[in-house]
Amino acid sequence: MNASGLSPEQVKLQARARELAAGPVTARAAEVDRTEQYPWDNVELLKDARLIGMTIPTQYGGQGKDWLDAVLAIEALSAACAVTGRIAVETNMGAISAVMAYGSEEQKKMAADMVLAGDKPAICITEPDAGSDANGMATRADKKGNRYVINGRKHWITGGGVSRLHLIFAKVYDEKGSEEGIGGFLAIRDETKGLKITKREPTMGLRGIPEAVIDFEDMDVPPSSLVIPPRGLKKGFADLMTAYNSQRVGAATVALGIAEGAYQLALDWSEKRQQFGRPINEFQGLQWKLADMSIKLSAARAQFFGARGYSRELPLERMARDVRMFTIGGGTAEVLRNVVAGALLKKKLPQTRDGWVRD
Ligand code: FAD
Repeated sequence: MNASGLSPEQVKLQARARELAAGPVTARAAEVDRTEQYPWDNVELLKDARLIGMTIPTQYGGQGKDWLDAVLAIEALSAACAVTGRIAVETNMGAISAVMAYGSEEQKKMAADMVLAGDKPAICITEPDAGSDANGMATRADKKGNRYVINGRKHWITGGGVSRLHLIFAKVYDEKGSEEGIGGFLAIRDETKGLKITKREPTMGLRGIPEAVIDFEDMDVPPSSLVIPPRGLKKGFADLMTAYNSQRVGAATVALGIAEGAYQLALDWSEKRQQFGRPINEFQGLQWKLADMSIKLSAARAQFFGARGYSRELPLERMARDVRMFTIGGGTAEVLRNVVAGALLKKKLPQTRDGWVRD
């Protein structure tokens, strides 16, 4: 352990991820956003750097690392390219963690092989009428003889259209039509009839990774695809949330990485940019801002519309982009504060000496 509390192996892992992030991942980040193409070449880089499938136990070909190891890599990658960071999340956490926790030997081997080969599994919970209230899902898996028949619609599924392995949550019904609780099923796109990618959402950000609507139309799967069996109405839902929790740790880490990346850019620029004959970081106003940024790092924003507010089909994302200009054009927010302060204190502060400020 060093002063940061990280082991020497973790320091090396972090350095490996940072090197990748600073090099090829940074170089491609803007292009990934512009072209909205899934960065398959970054997947290869992650594979080569052994940053994919790290948390998979060694007996299935992984490295048996824990979530902290994954978090270190995800944060470093997300500071350069959040899409690549998310790929690291979903190849180390989420569906793959759920399969490793709940799956049979056969399911674990299959999922591990697919992830280590570069597949980013999709986790399918959210539905048009069941978002935060996941327990209200309508997708159903009906037991019919020795099969389950799945029908329903999921939306906002990350990786829909690029992911092969899908972990699909549905309400399970026995042959008499009685509900047994929520269960999780594994299905492979293109190998499972009835699994259809029906729409890609136009999103505000993270454009290199598709968010899709997936329809299940009489998708017929064997009981061996059931990875999280229904355990009654309450326990099935608890299992679902446990399966989802690692994904949430990963999502928080991507946000942290993005904030860290933005903060580093600001810090660098504040050193390089000169105004009024000195680097702008010599102005106390900016020093305080940098200090606040380093404390907060991520700003929480209320999003009334849930996933819909994230879609380019609503004007919210355009408004968020447009409003940024007003903190710069016509006088930056900091300079305008100087103007107000100058008026209050009757002092000449930057941009007040030209006589803008009147008593
Ligand atoms: P709603 O549940 O309709 O919520 C609307 C608003 O009401 C929100 O502000 C919400 O916070 C608020 N609200 C709701 N209930 C409460 C409450 N009890 N108390 C206080 N406020 C409340 N889902 C998947 O299954 N798999 C994925 O891979 C996946 N990836 C996603 C990727 C992106 C980019 C996005 C945007 C979403 C993704 N989702 C995914 C869906 C995501 O999990 C849901 O959007 C989320 O759970 C919220 O559901 P909703 O959008 O339907 O909002």
